[in-house]
Amino acid sequence: MKITVSVIKADVGGIGGHTRPSDGLIEAVRKVIKSSGDLLIDHYIGYCGDDVHIVMSHTHGVDNQKIHKLAWDAFMAGTQVAKEEGLYGAGQDLLKDSFSGNVKGMGPGVAEMEFEERPNEAFTVFAADKTEPGAFNYPIYRMFVDALSNTGLIVNKSLAAGVKMNIMDVEEGKIAELELWQDKPTIEAALMYPGRYVVDSVTTKDGEPILAASTDRLHNIAGTYVGKDDPICLVRTQKMFPATEEAGSVFNNPHFVAGNTRGSHNMPLMPVKLNSAATINFCIPIVEALVFSMHNGKFTGPFDGFSTPDWDLIREIATKKAMSIRSQGFIHPATLVPSELEYAEGYRARMEVLESKMKPMEGNASSGGKKENYEDPD
Ligand SMILES: [Mg+2]
Repeated sequence: MKITVSVIKADVGGIGGHTRPSDGLIEAVRKVIKSSGDLLIDHYIGYCGDDVHIVMSHTHGVDNQKIHKLAWDAFMAGTQVAKEEGLYGAGQDLLKDSFSGNVKGMGPGVAEMEFEERPNEAFTVFAADKTEPGAFNYPIYRMFVDALSNTGLIVNKSLAAGVKMNIMDVEEGKIAELELWQDKPTIEAALMYPGRYVVDSVTTKDGEPILAASTDRLHNIAGTYVGKDDPICLVRTQKMFPATEEAGSVFNNPHFVAGNTRGSHNMPLMPVKLNSAATINFCIPIVEALVFSMHNGKFTGPFDGFSTPDWDLIREIATKKAMSIRSQGFIHPATLVPSELEYAEGYRARMEVLESKMKPMEGNASSGGKKENYEDPD
């Protein structure tokens, strides 16, 4: 049976800032999804920080207008409640006034894939907040390229053969299909700078979908910097794919990612429990793991992937790393480079003042441009 799993997410308002949606907002989203009749086989609604995610199973394929409209309508209903309650950033991810066929390019993030359901289909949704799609570069690398992180890359026949990895250029709005193992150094060069190159999807060599990430918004609004879109990704696990624990454990080394407070800092990505609010401790970036089983499109779960006691240690490591980089305040690399600052306008205003006060230095070759004024010591 061919099933499509669609995960669509948006931030349409948070309590007192960018913390978490209200119960009323979630309820409004749920009501719309529940009223969809037999369009869906199953659904799950939750949140990561201020982002609401809707996980849906159905038989209508990817990019389906009815499915996308349903999610859009649900987020519109959530926005209405967010406005009534005075939530912060009400409707902030809904960039258009009305639906036009597909939520791609309209603000919400979409990760979806259609596949022949296995008898015991297993998949995990990783949902993140206060960061950017490139935040998944490092964990995805560990999952599919780094055998020190994933022994499955040695002992699993399908993974050992290598996978196809589609990598998107956020600035140019282009996508490249790369293949392991021959493109390994090229993939590494791309993943090195998560602000520009992000993993869009991963398939087996013969095209069986393994991973899909929400890069659509970036693709559709290419040309302006929209890198700070909180990402979500869907990974099929077990059998010919990474084991669930191989997919989960690549988040056990909280690496530094861009985003956080004012979308302008670098902080470690902290694994948290399902439906966690974003922390008001400078918005440490967070990621949740929704572990599902599926049969005939019906979900069992999600099991809370980062809820077991060992993840408390990882959270402590993340918090220590967060405090460590915060100890240097606004000094880069605690802050992002100017081109990636979400508050670029405010920064530019400061720089204009600085530049207006800049005067050429006497005897400086570069400021006056007159090389002959420079006296060579020889
Ligand atoms: Mg968010």
